[in-house]
Amino acid sequence: MKKLLFIGLLFIGLNLTAQTDSRIYDIINAVSAERIESDITTLANFGTRHTLSDTISETRGIGAARRWIKSEFDKISADCSNCLNVFYQKDLVKKGENQRIVKDVWVVNVVAIQKGTKYPNRYIIMSGDIDSRVSDPTDFESDSPGANDNASGMAGTIEAARVLSKYKFESSVIYLGLSGEEQGLFGGKGLAAFAKEKGWDIIGIINNDMIGNIKGVDGVVSNRDFRIFSEPVPPTETERQRRARRFYGGEVDGISRQLARYVHKTTKTYMPEMNPTMIYRLDRFGRGGHHRPFNDAGYAGIRIMESHENYTQQHQDIRVENGIAYGDVLEHVNFEYAKKLTAVNAINLASIAWAPPAPETVEIGGIVEPSAKLKWNKVDGARGYKIYWRETTSPTWDNSRYVGDLTEATLDGIVIDNYFFGVASVGADGHESMVVFPNKIFR
Ligand SMILES: [Zn+2]
Repeated sequence: MKKLLFIGLLFIGLNLTAQTDSRIYDIINAVSAERIESDITTLANFGTRHTLSDTISETRGIGAARRWIKSEFDKISADCSNCLNVFYQKDLVKKGENQRIVKDVWVVNVVAIQKGTKYPNRYIIMSGDIDSRVSDPTDFESDSPGANDNASGMAGTIEAARVLSKYKFESSVIYLGLSGEEQGLFGGKGLAAFAKEKGWDIIGIINNDMIGNIKGVDGVVSNRDFRIFSEPVPPTETERQRRARRFYGGEVDGISRQLARYVHKTTKTYMPEMNPTMIYRLDRFGRGGHHRPFNDAGYAGIRIMESHENYTQQHQDIRVENGIAYGDVLEHVNFEYAKKLTAVNAINLASIAWAPPAPETVEIGGIVEPSAKLKWNKVDGARGYKIYWRETTSPTWDNSRYVGDLTEATLDGIVIDNYFFGVASVGADGHESMVVFPNKIFR
């Protein structure tokens, strides 16, 4: 009997570290390519969703598009006993703010919040964009279906809401449609400021921008590859923090990078058929996306995106030139692939929203000693903690040790100089918080 009990406990211990919550597989299976196809088609059929386009028509322009998105979130909410709080968040952007704002415009985002049961003020966000554009960024009248850029990200966000609204989470989940992206990232800027003003504790934003193209302009075809963009350290860090990095490390361990590693790991664990590539940069070379304004405000934020882009199918007037069909039209979107990347988002939102908060303070010691030492603060709701470490040249947290409900641990024989370290909280179901890079030194 005693022996059996011991084995039972051992299995609980294993479960805590293996992350095998079967609900995660249910979530992957519940994501529907058919519904994503239907939603991308609806969005593309609004003709144009340019930020400056018509807002009165019921069938064409960004007004009709955002009202439809809101009505979809309202429907999802009605299906889960009003589990979503759905509203518009808007800011007036004045003509001349930049060259792409050729008249005054209300930049209107659609927000759907699924309140957390235990930590209602902690938020993990998934976003896509409402707006689209053609060759001339100020052309708000020509047909601009924006099927991949970015009806795919918007449809994925709506579908994630459908699937996840069937569950209850400890932290809040926000499904977010942002506008004004192509005109200068205005929607993200507005929403980040709104979040600051409300005092929201944002865990991070997973921004989806173009998750539907599998055929690269260079001929590479893959329905398994995707990219996770993240900046190395927050632009809001202080001069003191910057100087400390020279001596204690952290050049590639900012909060957005930890979110990128989290998504990479969750994908590898539950969807091993996928090939996520972490790209160690804010975004594509010189280009923008809606996670950036959140980064600017000091929040963790990453961009999820296809790996193989086709530049003849983004930001283009619909036309045929030299035998090439230009334009971001429905025919080029692979809905099964958009489904996979939507599932990647959904399982990460769920894992993070089911996990306890990360420790706020992680201290590291072990200078001129043979073993590294870590201390952290106790987290309400954490069943235990996991110490992670990796070689300094590795992009992923390759080594880990679950240490149970302690607030300090020594890694015997692991010399502090030769690795980077971090600590995560582990919840009752084995879901883990983001890894926290040490933010204090002790001797
Ligand atoms: Zn774009």
